[in-house]
Amino acid sequence: MYPPAFDYYAPATLEEAIGLLDQHQGEAKVLAGGQSLIGMMKLRLAQPAALVDINRIPNLAYIREDGTFLRIGPLTRINDLHASDVIRTRYPILYDASGEIADPTVRNWGTVGGNASHGDPGNDLPACMFALNAEYQAQGPKGSRTIPARSFYQDSFTNVLAPNEVLTEVHIPKAGKGSGNAYSKMERKVGDFAIAAVGAHVVLDANGTITTAGIGLTNVGPTAIYAAKASEYLVGKTGTPADLDRAADLAAEAAQPIADNRGPVEFKREMVRVWTRRTVRRALERAKGGS
Ligand SMILES: Cc1cc2nc3c(=O)[nH]c(=O)nc-3n(C[C@H](O)[C@H](O)[C@H](O)COP(=O)(O)OP(=O)(O)OC[C@H]3O[C@@H](n4cnc5c(N)ncnc54)[C@H](O)[C@@H]3O)c2cc1C
Repeated sequence: MYPPAFDYYAPATLEEAIGLLDQHQGEAKVLAGGQSLIGMMKLRLAQPAALVDINRIPNLAYIREDGTFLRIGPLTRINDLHASDVIRTRYPILYDASGEIADPTVRNWGTVGGNASHGDPGNDLPACMFALNAEYQAQGPKGSRTIPARSFYQDSFTNVLAPNEVLTEVHIPKAGKGSGNAYSKMERKVGDFAIAAVGAHVVLDANGTITTAGIGLTNVGPTAIYAAKASEYLVGKTGTPADLDRAADLAAEAAQPIADNRGPVEFKREMVRVWTRRTVRRALERAKGGS
């Protein structure tokens, strides 16, 4: 199936790309890896008049830490995220998640910026970004702004970016001592979108008390879900089995699954409960030095 006709632009700079988006007044879309957008165009679920391909703009693919943040460029391929030593050793939630997205071909093309922007509730990276309390930097004709990932998604396939803005960087608070995180995904078969998936991040103090916690859920609502009550509940706790049970109950309450070919509502809610308990436990083990 062919997509409808569209104009194609391959700008050499970010400024040029933003100018093109601005000029098309909401009728143009950014093209990154194309793994979601082109499929939607073929199905006529998206019919942009123009595509602004950002793949020829230099310096948009990187993973680097500075004093404050882990910074990820929007054109970083999902496979490069998975292959990064910094990610595997210091931000293992992203290592876990990137290894479970689709298949190697999709991961070779698909980008961090595209996965974060697309707004499919089945995309795996947004729940990780919620858990890690990431921020997205966006640039438009009037300059750049920073948006907390937890307030970026408005509905399925809808985010707060203006049509003339490009997501230009993901910022994640730098991992420090006592930091641990994990992502677990339940899928019907390898390469599928999640039935339910959970990302968890904790930071422990020297006494083993949780000082920071974040739990994100994938594919159990119209967008990825930040399980705020479960996350807040864990702060000040040490992660006893009773603490994990309570956090898992609160995460299950936060889920808003619908019945579909991946299962009925109660099954999905129960999977959130089970996987939250396991994923927080794994995050705690990693925070204590486990792998
Ligand atoms: C068979 C298959 C299975 C898949 N399974 C999974 C899965 O299990 N888990 C999962 O998470 N994903 C899955 N995906 C989706 C895949 O990860 C996509 O690549 C990803 O969601 C989108 O990234 P992309 O770079 O291809 O974006 P594109 O398809 O190029 O763009 C997607 C959307 O994001 C916008 N966009 C892209 N980059 C930017 C930017 N920098 N600034 C502003 N807007 C931008 C585009 O305009 C478009 O609206 C699957 C895809 C396929 C084809």
